[in-house]
Amino acid sequence: MNISPCSDPEIQISQVLAAVSQPARIQILMVIAEQEACVCHFEAVLGLRQASISQHLMVLRKVGLVGSQRMGRNIFYRLLRPGIVAVIEQAAGLIGADPLEFEKLKMRPVPNCPCPQCSPGLDPALTCRNLTKSNLSNPH
Ligand SMILES: [Zn+2]
Repeated sequence: MNISPCSDPEIQISQVLAAVSQPARIQILMVIAEQEACVCHFEAVLGLRQASISQHLMVLRKVGLVGSQRMGRNIFYRLLRPGIVAVIEQAAGLIGADPLEFEKLKMRPVPNCPCPQCSPGLDPALTCRNLTKSNLSNPH
């Protein structure tokens, strides 16, 4: 017996599906379906705390679905396996949900989002870490 459990596709598939199987993670994957995003963008779209978003991203990174890259002062997350989007859309079809529901998650710019993609005019010295809603009440 010298079979590595890692070589079994059903085990790998179940690991990937387990990582995806939380509503917030499905949302995160759809947010970056077409374009990368930083943590404050996920925060604006999903209304979750940064700590919780980071945890979800860590799980998705661990199974190789998501990768990160520093751009300027922020870290942006992107899909490493874009095929997962089709899997989620197929699952939506399976339960009779409209995949177009996901379109609003892909949308840019998001009103009141302080990320560099949605608010390119904001002070570039501000990062996801030190951005607060109060920065937005002071428009450029
Ligand atoms: Zn944004």
